[in-house]
Amino acid sequence: MICVSCGENQAAVFIQEIVHNQVRQASLCVVCAEAAGAAAASAEKKARTALLGRPESRRRTEDSISRAAGILANARLVSFEEACRHLSLLRLGLVSELQGLPGSLAEVNALLVQTQPAHIEVRENRELSAVERDELRADYIRERLR
Ligand SMILES: [Zn+2]
Repeated sequence: MICVSCGENQAAVFIQEIVHNQVRQASLCVVCAEAAGAAAASAEKKARTALLGRPESRRRTEDSISRAAGILANARLVSFEEACRHLSLLRLGLVSELQGLPGSLAEVNALLVQTQPAHIEVRENRELSAVERDELRADYIRERLR
């Protein structure tokens, strides 16, 4: 498979990202993957500085992060969209070294993948209704963040 970015080199890195509930996949060569990784890390750092830099904005962001952690630790039903939103906020808190949050960065990164609908069905080895999936997702998150 050829890299989708440069169209020249052999793809070696396969990226899957979720943007607004849409799964996007890309196959990149090593050179393009490194460039994309550096750009993403820089954009993330810039966003973090904007959210946590000013006191007012920091208080609001910290509140959102703590609320997200509370929902993830207690909810009985969690949709995929909700899991993505709250896990991303929790991840922001962990990256920013906010104190008192459950889980680790590695755990939250893993949860962002393992709470996808298909991953839950593979774990259960059967087709699930939306409510069953949301319930299993909530159980799984609570267990892992304990
Ligand atoms: Zn490339």
